[in-house]
Amino acid sequence: MDLDFNAEELAFRDQVREFLATALPAEIRDRMHRSDDSHIRDDIQNWQKILHAKGWGAPAWPVEFGGTGWSKTEQYIFETECALADAPAQLAFGVKMVAPVLMRYGSPQQQQYFLPRILAADDWWCQGYSEPGSGSDLASLKMKAERDGDEYVLNGQKVWNTLGQFADWIFCLVRTDSSGKPQRGISFLLIDMKTPGITVRPTRLLDGTFEVNEIWFDNVRVPVSNRIGEENAGWTYAKFLLGHERTNIAGIGASKRELARLKQMAAAQPKAGATMLQDPLFATRIAQVEIELRALEITNMRVIFAEAKKQAPGPEASMLKIRGTEIMQRLSELQMEVLGADALIYRDTSGEIARETSTYLNLRKLSIFGGSNEIQRNIIAQMILGL
Ligand SMILES: Cc1cc2nc3c(=O)[nH]c(=O)nc-3n(C[C@H](O)[C@H](O)[C@H](O)COP(=O)(O)OP(=O)(O)OC[C@H]3O[C@@H](n4cnc5c(N)ncnc54)[C@H](O)[C@@H]3O)c2cc1C
Repeated sequence: MDLDFNAEELAFRDQVREFLATALPAEIRDRMHRSDDSHIRDDIQNWQKILHAKGWGAPAWPVEFGGTGWSKTEQYIFETECALADAPAQLAFGVKMVAPVLMRYGSPQQQQYFLPRILAADDWWCQGYSEPGSGSDLASLKMKAERDGDEYVLNGQKVWNTLGQFADWIFCLVRTDSSGKPQRGISFLLIDMKTPGITVRPTRLLDGTFEVNEIWFDNVRVPVSNRIGEENAGWTYAKFLLGHERTNIAGIGASKRELARLKQMAAAQPKAGATMLQDPLFATRIAQVEIELRALEITNMRVIFAEAKKQAPGPEASMLKIRGTEIMQRLSELQMEVLGADALIYRDTSGEIARETSTYLNLRKLSIFGGSNEIQRNIIAQMILGL
């Protein structure tokens, strides 16, 4: 198998690079470079609108829904180049998660209303899967949806809703039947966040920021027409979405960017008359992670080629999630080591120190969200190794 890009793919990469150099606003690039999330909603939405105007708003969607029609390799090149150029990541909840579910299982009315709005960044979506006590064991979720004529009445709580403070809509898993197997009584609802009875409470994180929320539902009335597919069949749609949640989670572009930054930082840090980059022990550790990143990139390419004909990513996505998140965390740990005691100063609002330390703290989440790495190992054991 030839894992190098061919001439057309290299030309495509140059086209993407040229577009990023001219179309990505400098102030957005600068904020992303400094991990400054003070304008995160505007930055993500504005960048999505620029991509949409170019016709690149949904790299993975089929052309009939407004997608690019790009191959998997082109999508990979695009994502990698965006990360290397410090472009904001697209809001995955809309473009990459609920949209594929709508295309596969949504009604024509739902598709016609929501998909163009997702493409144009008119709606901000968040994900309402987890509950207190229902994370890895998601099928145990309790939030109730009781039928009352043409509406469901919702009561319960969701947790860990990433960027839910900005959300116009939430896709939620709710319990519509408690009588049989837990998986058989779950439905998938699309809920307008302006509906009376919804309360969003931010959760303060270790680095002082607010990125996740609790969302409370108190007699919230949702039209039955906002349900995806069949009542009590939501588990099927939820699992389909989770596969998409783990696509591109290897984050090769972001790790390459952070590896380059690590080398720059180490080259500027004095150590015993030389620099940290020249220290044989530290240089070996950088080399180790660089080799692992290259190996992951090759594995990612193999998965992309193998997946090209499939509709949804398979259990290989779990493998990429584990290795990708481990490498990202390792890179941020090495950056912290370069900073040494200076890393103790964080959230200084400007400068490298604030960025590296808050990023390090934030990246602890990677091995937990999107299904924890332990759960991914279970999936690999069962689905790939057949244990
Ligand atoms: C920053 C962040 C953002 C998130 N964003 C969202 C979001 O937007 N929407 C949303 O719905 N959810 C979100 N989540 C929730 C996330 O999906 C859950 O945290 C995750 O699925 C783990 O569930 P839990 O936290 O309840 O841990 P638990 O399931 O209680 O697990 C605790 C520990 O036990 C391990 N464990 C549990 N079961 C097993 C098992 N069978 N075998 C081996 N080990 C096991 C886990 O791996 C973990 O280490 C987010 C989480 C975080 C941290």
